[in-house]
Amino acid sequence: MDDILIIGGGASGLMCAYLLAKGGKAVTVLEKNDRVGKKLLATGNGKCNLTNVNLTLDDYNTALIKDILDEFTPNKVIDEFASMGLMTKVDGEGRVYPYSESANTVLNVLLRKLEEYGVKIICDAFVNKITPIDGKWKAIASKGEYIGDKAIFACGSNATSGIDSLNLISSLGHSVTPFRYAIAPLTCDGIKGMGGVRAKVHASIIINGKEIMGERGEILFKDDAISGILAFRLSSALARYSQRVESCKVKIDFAPDIQQDQLADFIYSNCSVFAPLEGILHKAIAQNVLSRVPMDRSWIMSRKKSNDIAKSCKAFDVNILGVGSRANAQIACGGVSLNELDTRTLQSRLHSGLYCIGESVDVDGLCGGCNLHWAWASAMAASKDLV
Ligand SMILES: Cc1cc2nc3c(=O)[nH]c(=O)nc-3n(C[C@H](O)[C@H](O)[C@H](O)COP(=O)(O)OP(=O)(O)OC[C@H]3O[C@@H](n4cnc5c(N)ncnc54)[C@H](O)[C@@H]3O)c2cc1C
Repeated sequence: MDDILIIGGGASGLMCAYLLAKGGKAVTVLEKNDRVGKKLLATGNGKCNLTNVNLTLDDYNTALIKDILDEFTPNKVIDEFASMGLMTKVDGEGRVYPYSESANTVLNVLLRKLEEYGVKIICDAFVNKITPIDGKWKAIASKGEYIGDKAIFACGSNATSGIDSLNLISSLGHSVTPFRYAIAPLTCDGIKGMGGVRAKVHASIIINGKEIMGERGEILFKDDAISGILAFRLSSALARYSQRVESCKVKIDFAPDIQQDQLADFIYSNCSVFAPLEGILHKAIAQNVLSRVPMDRSWIMSRKKSNDIAKSCKAFDVNILGVGSRANAQIACGGVSLNELDTRTLQSRLHSGLYCIGESVDVDGLCGGCNLHWAWASAMAASKDLV
């Protein structure tokens, strides 16, 4: 029986441990925290959006994972969890959740299987170094040294924890891209008084004058940031941007169902010159939109005035100052370069017997189940190569 060391007891490490142990391997998981799967419990607001049946390669930052995504599909993930006893359900946008809507359930079924298959879990074991030694792998941890025939690096990113373990891999000669927080609120200015307001809009992100991505969805305004699923998706576009960012703004259309001229006609024909958006938008949004319209002193609704108001509703620019923080970022872009990993198995091309999986690899997906999907799929790819 091979001994396999898994460094990191998060989503990818636990799935990999389960699949390897089910395949007959002796597995040890080394985890720095006092328990495994802590981040998993926080996912999907505690409900754990574990994959998405509509996800495609375009949801990720790289096409190099095509083979893995083609083989380890959302349905494979759902089936694997079903075989562990986890019942799932799919919402209207393809997001898959445990039937219980509790992330605890996902962790519990995984842990029960690990126990059943005799996986050794060592907590409070911060791994400082992994090194090849006589054809095997040694992990030097705060609790001692561990030797395995193979080593699987599954340390995730520094999002929320602030701990970046990429040095374990870069010290072995692997190229790594520094982590950058993503799936996080976009900090901004110019949205005074809008904190707490939600709106269904179309929004696009414009970096250095070029539109990079635009979608419909919901934005949640905070005092100094835009948040919510749509803002999270746009934050990934900004975090993935590899060139120097000279300027960044988000253009919001508060009336995405109506053409600008129709909106202008409606305002011209029906709305009070004193509060033209009162019947159309949330009060706090209306005030901000109107504050950007050059107002003349006449108390008559002119064609020009209604056009200007409609334009401001449909092209409301928010100046973006940055992407979230350690505490509120759900993921980080960056990680171990795929160029030095076998893109079917995730085994290192530099060191035989070393694998990198999950968010520690330079793979990031958009908000909506793509990142946990990658955690499971990458674990499946590596474990398939080993059993
Ligand atoms: C609040 C929040 C909500 C989220 N919601 C969703 C969602 O609904 N759907 C979705 O798809 N994704 C979601 N994500 C992202 C998802 O949780 C991650 O992409 C996923 O957990 C990555 O799995 P992983 O195994 O690569 O890393 P992790 O789950 O982060 O696991 C890495 C493990 O390695 C351990 N570790 C790190 N360094 C060391 C070391 N040196 N020695 C020992 N152990 C170490 C860590 O303590 C951790 O337990 C969310 C993230 C957050 C923070």
